[in-house]
Amino acid sequence: MFVVRREDPQMKKKIVAQLKQATRYEDLNKDQLREYLLLRQGSRCAYCEQKINNKQHSKKAGRVNRSSRQANKIEHFHPQSQDYSSDKCEKATGVGTWEQSPLALENMLAVCDGRIQEGGTEYCCDTKKASKDICSDFLNPNRFAVAPSSDQVVPRRSLVRVKRDGKLVPNKLYFTDEEQEERAQRVLDEVLNLNSTQLKDSRRKLLVALVKQSNEKVQRQAARKHGISRQELRKKLFNDAIAREEEESSALISVYYSYGAELDKS
Ligand SMILES: [Zn+2]
Ligand SMILES: [Zn+2]
Repeated sequence: MFVVRREDPQMKKKIVAQLKQATRYEDLNKDQLREYLLLRQGSRCAYCEQKINNKQHSKKAGRVNRSSRQANKIEHFHPQSQDYSSDKCEKATGVGTWEQSPLALENMLAVCDGRIQEGGTEYCCDTKKASKDICSDFLNPNRFAVAPSSDQVVPRRSLVRVKRDGKLVPNKLYFTDEEQEERAQRVLDEVLNLNSTQLKDSRRKLLVALVKQSNEKVQRQAARKHGISRQELRKKLFNDAIAREEEESSALISVYYSYGAELDKS
């Protein structure tokens, strides 16, 4: 799920001004908008966290850039078409009227092309979600994205957690009672299809690799470092690793956050 990576206040100002002037989403020049969203999200899909490139999505086969697997699209968290939404949704957009909602920056997320595998026919993310409104069961990732502080420290928070088997579950920090959790889980499973076998498996593999790497490093360094417990050493090594991964804008960042949260608990 979308984790804010970097905020460029100058660029944001420009984008907001451009959106204010526009009357229809279709008329917008999306290049700058796309660039801004990608920078902000560390070039990861807002839902599945796979890496996405900066090429415009095209429905015509062959026009999508082949050098990077996932092309990106701009997704509206609240659907653009009011046929699919309720009064409650209109209120939740926080911009007053339906006409303004497609042009609200807070409603926009950069997402992948929705194919779980290249050339495959199983879909996830916004492609699977289509025009469904999920705001009564899930939270707008944009609203819960905490911007980096002035010293560029990115808060390590995500609306989701990754279990040891790679399954994505709602983060109890945000979905606080059982009913909320259940509804959010259904959105993850059914609406966004984020627990498809392949996606679950790539998360599980990354987690296994993380744990293995960490064990090996602790093993090597523990012999040399006295006066520091293995668990402290493990946490220190993890913090170094995650700082690097964030810099490189790695895919599946929630896997790292979930592993880090597990370390903090122990
Ligand atoms: Zn995606
Ligand atoms: Zn909505």
